[in-house]
Amino acid sequence: MSLIHRSILLLLGLGLSAQTAAAPELNLYSARNEALIQPLLERFTEQTGIKVNLVTGKADALLKRLKSEGRNSPADLLLTTDAGRLHRAVEAGVTQPFSSELLDKVVPANYRDPQGHWVGLSVRSRPILYVKGKVEPSELSSYEALSDAKWKGRICIRSSSNIYNQSLIASMIAANGEAETEKWAKGLVANLALPPKGGDRDQIKAAASGQCDIAIANTYYLAGMLNSSESDQVDAASKMAVFWPNQNGRGAHVNISGAAITRSSKNPGAAVKLLEFLVSEASQQWYAEVNGEYPVRAGVAVGDILKGWGEFKADTLNLGQLGELNAEAVMLMDRAGWR
Ligand code: FE
Repeated sequence: MSLIHRSILLLLGLGLSAQTAAAPELNLYSARNEALIQPLLERFTEQTGIKVNLVTGKADALLKRLKSEGRNSPADLLLTTDAGRLHRAVEAGVTQPFSSELLDKVVPANYRDPQGHWVGLSVRSRPILYVKGKVEPSELSSYEALSDAKWKGRICIRSSSNIYNQSLIASMIAANGEAETEKWAKGLVANLALPPKGGDRDQIKAAASGQCDIAIANTYYLAGMLNSSESDQVDAASKMAVFWPNQNGRGAHVNISGAAITRSSKNPGAAVKLLEFLVSEASQQWYAEVNGEYPVRAGVAVGDILKGWGEFKADTLNLGQLGELNAEAVMLMDRAGWR
């Protein structure tokens, strides 16, 4: 039993149970599955006495639910992946701004909403993955270079309806402008080995099975496959290597999983406490590792698989921009014929 747990029992024994019972409860709508967050919530409750009720669901469904519940929503927080999705929640008017000196200090500014509606809790990257032996890292350099004709028929990437790709393209619009990015996207589409189909894992599997030489995918999928109990997943992932693009320029594209406090929250103070708990060093190490992601704060150790991929320079673009440029990115990909 932890010291904190014991001291809670002691408080109860001293007849302070009324105070404990009056502690606020939080309702968390989470697009991450239970195993990836519940253990941390339990630790938070142990430390603070604040109970957290978890509702899990698909990101779009949870947002829809928040919208329809409106001001009567019981939710205090929305936890989801991709800054583009958090931006959609802000646009839908279901969030409220919050401030915390601790979050401002610990979480780099580019992983926080400039208007204070959401904060990143872990970092994910979307680099270039290549099939070992078929591609030499010296042949690779940047996302931009993937439109070169030498990659014709050699690249796998999922469809343009996926937010991860929309955010990647938004980051390129921010870096290179719309016209340049559209030209690039047309070149990329011309180089695809297959019509876009399936998720990131499917792109990795397609590459591993010889259908393409390069896949663009988030690294935690590769980590998840390497850690899988299914040998075909491990075999496929083992054929791939990570290349960090744009290291001589703006850095590799990154995104976050993060959280917003809902507009309907009756306990924004307790909600901020939970967010602060989630960026503590111990939480960060657990949360990033169990998700195969990177900690959002500096100086937190990563697991062996991530360590093996080496350190990399990440794009420092404020991720709020990914949301701002989302509509433009979607239209651009459509014009480029990216299915
Ligand atoms: Fe994902």
